[in-house]
Amino acid sequence: MTHRFQLDWALLPTGWTRDVVATVSTAGMVTSIEAGCAAPAPTERIAGFVLPGMANAHSHAFQRALAGGAERRASSRDSFWTWRSAMYALANRLRPDELQIVATQLFIEMLKAGYTSVGEFHYLHRTLDGAASGPGRFALWDAVIAAARAAGIGLSFLPTLYQTSDFGGAPLKPEQSRFQLDVEDYLDAIAARIGAERDAAGSPLRIGAAFHSLRAVPLDTLRQAAARLAEIDSTMPVHIHVAEQAREVKSCVSATGLRPIELLLGTGLVNDRWCLVHCTHATPAELAGIAASGAAVCVSISTEANLGDGFFDTLRFARADGRLCIGSDSQSTVDPAEELRWLEYQQRLRRKRRMVLATAAEPHTGTQLWCAAAREGARALGQPAGAIAVGQRADWIALDPDHPAIAGAAPEAMADRLIFAGGRAAIRDCLVAGRRVIKGGRHAAEAASAETYAALMRRFAAA
Ligand SMILES: [Zn+2]
Repeated sequence: MTHRFQLDWALLPTGWTRDVVATVSTAGMVTSIEAGCAAPAPTERIAGFVLPGMANAHSHAFQRALAGGAERRASSRDSFWTWRSAMYALANRLRPDELQIVATQLFIEMLKAGYTSVGEFHYLHRTLDGAASGPGRFALWDAVIAAARAAGIGLSFLPTLYQTSDFGGAPLKPEQSRFQLDVEDYLDAIAARIGAERDAAGSPLRIGAAFHSLRAVPLDTLRQAAARLAEIDSTMPVHIHVAEQAREVKSCVSATGLRPIELLLGTGLVNDRWCLVHCTHATPAELAGIAASGAAVCVSISTEANLGDGFFDTLRFARADGRLCIGSDSQSTVDPAEELRWLEYQQRLRRKRRMVLATAAEPHTGTQLWCAAAREGARALGQPAGAIAVGQRADWIALDPDHPAIAGAAPEAMADRLIFAGGRAAIRDCLVAGRRVIKGGRHAAEAASAETYAALMRRFAAA
């Protein structure tokens, strides 16, 4: 069975096109696209302006419960590291059922903002009593997967290896003990999960893997685990945090004599299946090295700004043909339009000029930013999406043509309006695998989710 959509306007890889008829399979994949034709019945019309949905390439769902809650000055030395203490306190109280409530609320918010898939970089492994085996094993993994299914968002689940507290094999601190898994347990669990999901048809779920960081995974362990992961699935996405903090770079140099990105590239492991998250403190040579490796970089300007990390050199990486995607990371902002707006604004403020990330081939800054991040984000997540094209999943967003930020604008300026004026309020519909999960700006489960989530937050506040 196929389903036929009539799109008034669609942003195809060749540009904005009027009267597009797209056929979508039962599995949600686009099987044909015809432009400029009258739609044969039966069809479902999508009015307004349709763009590819955005991939959120880096998320820690549980941190949604901390967003806005760590903004009170504790001392003149507040930093990433003091924020991390608050984050650990949250990580050490969540039960699986509570994580599912938080993640469901978050994933609904992502869909309303235009994210159609998410990469969940997940390092909460052990139950509150420290068990990594027995009944309920990996219940925290199940909670995230169940939340994505309930919300209807595409998920790349990235179980994360976390072994040490710093370079040189420093043991984990007590507050990090929930993150630890033996390497064999970790690899077996990923292989088992891939096997289980292979039989679960119709769900946009992909299993990948992540290494928390070079400070959390010794290099020999990383080499061995990466080789085994490639045997399990040679196309698996692999993510890692790297060079987010100046202190992290300094510790890496004192322990190894090399900067973290140099060290990682020197392993020879990094290729186009890898996504390097942050890369905030990168030298020009390191940025060129990443671009040459084919790996993507995921930048989360909102989190990097919130945590006082530093500036990523976006323009230099773009000029090296680097693959760049975005993520909501700590969830202080869950809005791809805002993420992309600040990617450009950060460059404008630095360089004192405008349209920094637009190109000669795509002079509309918004179109350039949206299409590149959607395409590269989906690729970094191993999701068959990121463009409105045959062979891609029908993950689309539709802008309301009557929204004040959009009304009267030329189609070519729609992504500019979305990013620089309307933002999430201009998004009317959102489809994942051809299913309208946001309709008229609303998700079918949003009222119930908001109520459950609010009750949980009140309970946390009272405890
Ligand atoms: Zn992160």
